[in-house]
Amino acid sequence: MIPAQATRPVEDVRVVVVGAGFSGIGAAIRLREAGFRDVVILEKASQLGGTWRENTYPGCACDVPSTLYSYSFAPDTAWSRVFAGQPEIHAYLRTTAERYGLGDALRCGVQVRGARWDPAAGRWLLETSDGPYRAAVLVLATGPWHVPRHLDVPGIEDFPGPVLHTARWDHTVDLTGRRVAVVGSGASAVQVVPAIADRAAAVHLFQRTAQWVLPKPDLPVPAVFNRLLDRLPGARTTLRGGQYALQEGFGYAFRHPPIARLIESGARAHLRLAVGDRDLRESLTPDYRLGCKRLLTSSTFYRALAQPHVHLHPTAVTAVHGDEVAGADGTVTQADVLITATGFRIGELPLAQRLYGKDGRTLHETWGGEPQAHLGTTVSGFPNLFLLLGPNLLGGSTSAITVLEAQLSYLTAALTHLDRSGHQVLDVRPAAQAAHNTAVQEALRTTVYNSGGCTSYYFSPSGRNTFAWPWSTGRLIHRLSRFDSDSYVCDTPACASPEPSPVPAPTTRR
Ligand SMILES: Cc1cc2nc3c(=O)[nH]c(=O)nc-3n(C[C@H](O)[C@H](O)[C@H](O)COP(=O)(O)OP(=O)(O)OC[C@H]3O[C@@H](n4cnc5c(N)ncnc54)[C@H](O)[C@@H]3O)c2cc1C
Repeated sequence: MIPAQATRPVEDVRVVVVGAGFSGIGAAIRLREAGFRDVVILEKASQLGGTWRENTYPGCACDVPSTLYSYSFAPDTAWSRVFAGQPEIHAYLRTTAERYGLGDALRCGVQVRGARWDPAAGRWLLETSDGPYRAAVLVLATGPWHVPRHLDVPGIEDFPGPVLHTARWDHTVDLTGRRVAVVGSGASAVQVVPAIADRAAAVHLFQRTAQWVLPKPDLPVPAVFNRLLDRLPGARTTLRGGQYALQEGFGYAFRHPPIARLIESGARAHLRLAVGDRDLRESLTPDYRLGCKRLLTSSTFYRALAQPHVHLHPTAVTAVHGDEVAGADGTVTQADVLITATGFRIGELPLAQRLYGKDGRTLHETWGGEPQAHLGTTVSGFPNLFLLLGPNLLGGSTSAITVLEAQLSYLTAALTHLDRSGHQVLDVRPAAQAAHNTAVQEALRTTVYNSGGCTSYYFSPSGRNTFAWPWSTGRLIHRLSRFDSDSYVCDTPACASPEPSPVPAPTTRR
């Protein structure tokens, strides 16, 4: 159990949000707008930003257009590019937090070490680096793409040069004239390789699996276009709607693999236009259905690989011997700098090991390696706990912010339900959670994520897809647009209130 702390008296807060990335900032804004003023965000880092504070590697940018990869309630930003870069997205989050006056809610430099449900008090007790907190509601906004997955091969610790994970970039390392080995070929690799290729003497990309890559229309946005968006009523909403529809088109294809196959011809044509060398093209052609792994976009990746000083090694890295990087195919390459673009430990919620539910078991033990939740948000046995961007909510096409905002509607509706019904505690019924997850797994079977012939981070080690939502985003928004009180047990037996709880109008509550 979590040891008692004696640093200061327990601080009582109605809602504690853990993490100040897009999810935590969005949650605090929406909760306050809905009248829940007593909200605190605990962020372990010295400033807000999450993903966009931590990923500062060259070329880092979003791959969903910024007008969609931003809050719908704070759309009026003059993005400089269709797909904004990391500094601009981080600045957007800072300005939005300021604009919504979150200063008093945000506590940076506070790490949540664990929490346990106190059934007698009907509260979460949190152990943090700032002392103990007691919260009626706990919102975990700790992010799926947060804990870097490091390259774990023999000899890596003896590599004589710098080893940089893309999420832990060291800007003091100068790549000019250096031989750089990049390990990994996913979303970060396709951004970092073209961004460093012009200054490195040589770039060696170790690719375990080829990826489908579509062109990225990453154009600068002229100031006049931004002014037009400001002046024309409804223009931003229309643009956002159009982008949403486009992303949904990909989502539709991922649910209907024969259509995903059609998009493959576009990706193949993109590859043919950029890479003349037949062998290189072959090595870059995936052997699974498009969409099975996250679909990548870049108009510079293939062109970078076609340069003579950039070398593709279509093999996994198996060992490092001094400054030599060895591939499974016997390739040995000398490098001065090693960049690991090896992604994140998706699906492993670090706090899960220190989060004790009502039967005293941790979330980690309860899940047994297969994270699941009711509508990706609540977990049976963990009352008044809400996971943001939780299991089986995302897909290969949607903006995470769209999913997040749907969850925030559900969260505010749930808290409104508690207030209206006079209850303090809600816990999702095991049967409701199980029924939802059975339906999810059944629907996933025919999607390209499950049937496309690849392995991906969508799957737990046991082979269960714990990441993807199998239906349209519209259906996700609809399911989360009202609080389904029948699926819950409250602190008194009857949980249902006479009326359903829609997204509440702004008022002031504690
Ligand atoms: C390079 C990159 C590009 C991406 N591009 C896109 C894109 O184009 N479109 C898209 O939809 N998604 C994209 N994503 C996914 C992206 O992570 C999400 O869209 C979104 O930013 C997640 O926000 P979050 O707030 O949930 O998590 P995060 O941004 O990861 O924030 C979590 C926060 O929680 C804090 N925290 C964690 N544990 C604790 C603790 N114990 N105590 C206190 N604080 C804690 C962390 O410090 C962090 O600040 C991208 C991800 C990466 C890495």
